[in-house]
Amino acid sequence: MILLGETMNDLNGEKTNLDKLEEFFSNNYRDPVYEALEKYPEERSLIVDFNDLEEFDADLADYLIERPMEVIKISKRAIKKIDPLMKNADLNVRFENISNQFSLTDISSRMIGKFVKVRGIVDDVDKVSARVDTAKFECRGCMRIHEVEQDLNAPMKEPAICSECGCRSFRWLKDESTFEDVQSAVLKEIILDDSKMSEPIKLLIYYEGDLIRELKKEDIVDLTGTLKTIKDEKTGYFNFYLHVNHIEFIYKWGIS
Ligand SMILES: [Zn+2]
Repeated sequence: MILLGETMNDLNGEKTNLDKLEEFFSNNYRDPVYEALEKYPEERSLIVDFNDLEEFDADLADYLIERPMEVIKISKRAIKKIDPLMKNADLNVRFENISNQFSLTDISSRMIGKFVKVRGIVDDVDKVSARVDTAKFECRGCMRIHEVEQDLNAPMKEPAICSECGCRSFRWLKDESTFEDVQSAVLKEIILDDSKMSEPIKLLIYYEGDLIRELKKEDIVDLTGTLKTIKDEKTGYFNFYLHVNHIEFIYKWGIS
């Protein structure tokens, strides 16, 4: 069953997903959360076993598969709320053992926006770059500063209107904005049978923050992430890519 959005639940007086996730992190995951918060910012990720979430609330686990970006965002908020040290830690929440596992040959438009796990071999690891994470804008009317969170591979989002003076013109403050490290690579289908004549299926992947520099060419990995698309300007069609949330190594190159 798919849950209604957070606000809908709120209106019905039911527990919102934020309430549920707060309960999950403060009860079921209390120790791992506190441990991760203690190590922050040297370590910046909390790993959640999907099976634990499913046991806690099966609807919430289903909702994670359907709307991963939303659930990850709410999870981060939930953790900030229960942090006893109030460090405002921007902890990445990563999910292992998700049930929605596919082969690269199965990837299709039906899965766009969903949480999937795929296995493959790493190739074409690109250099580390930076993307804008939170952009700061100055209103040209009243100089008020506005912060707008930015998405991976999306055009820069500006504030629509200044809530202070109604002005619609802004100046981007590049030096005061925050950036996130980002890297891309290709995940290739593993072909064991030499007689197969077709080219291996390839999927572009992007990984960020504390995941950068984790992957090397020829590593064999299970990647969990959100399937997204990026427009191919030549064809006008959309190419798939995986926004990686979690990496599980099956075979790590250089370590026997
Ligand atoms: Zn203004």
